Amino acid sequence: MKIFAAVKRVVDFNVSVRVKADGTGVDTANLKMSMNPFDEIAVEAAVKLKEDGKASEVIAVSVGPDKAQDTLRTALAMGADRAILVQTDGETEPLAVAKALKALVDREGPELVFVGKQAIDDDCNQTGQMLASLLDWAQGTFVSGLELDGGGAAITREVDGGLERAKVRLPAVLTVDLRLNQPRYPGLPAIMKAKKKPLDVVTADSLGVDLSPRLATLKVVEPPKRHAGVKLSSAAELAAKLKDLVEAA
Ligand code: AMP
Repeated sequence: MKIFAAVKRVVDFNVSVRVKADGTGVDTANLKMSMNPFDEIAVEAAVKLKEDGKASEVIAVSVGPDKAQDTLRTALAMGADRAILVQTDGETEPLAVAKALKALVDREGPELVFVGKQAIDDDCNQTGQMLASLLDWAQGTFVSGLELDGGGAAITREVDGGLERAKVRLPAVLTVDLRLNQPRYPGLPAIMKAKKKPLDVVTADSLGVDLSPRLATLKVVEPPKRHAGVKLSSAAELAAKLKDLVEAA
């Protein structure tokens, strides 16, 4: 069984971003970029299945600029066998990415696609669900536990108030949550080995996919600044303030 792991290149989670002066978006120039953290979990899940003898090949896939090859190399260093980049310099909206991933699925024939539950730059939480829908495959979202058994996947999902267990038939798209695993940190030998693994770069045109944006960003603004708090000297003063607030409301 082949497995896809989708990886997106995003601004590193440790970096605080600034809104551009003209309000058209966020300034990403010269910022540290990394693999979307949930996608590290997706790659780890796929590589573990291969190590357990349950998958024959792990293919890391990305839609993005040439620089996303670095992100794919990280996935290769983590243990993916090969990688495919759908090269584009434009915005990558969930629907466009889902269409590109579907075209790659049709070409490569994986039975399982791991994606992150959300990309930390757009916070959409849509790509996996859209991909499952386009493929007409089963989907398991927010997966925090996984076991493959005879043609299906037994998954645990984190839901409000607890854990839900479900069975998903294959082929399927699984969107992975934080607690599924602890992604490995590739060492130098793995990084060196990854440089020699195959990485194909294809265009959206060659896949017959139109990546042009369907969404228009009207304006991006900084969140309002938080005001400093006030120190109160006693519980009585706090109670009086709360009473005033309630009366004023
Ligand atoms: P989103 O729906 O944008 O929150 O993204 C959810 C997941 O879809 C991410 O964690 C990735 O696994 C995958 N994904 C989104 N955009 C891309 C992209 N440009 N290239 C590869 N995978 C992506």
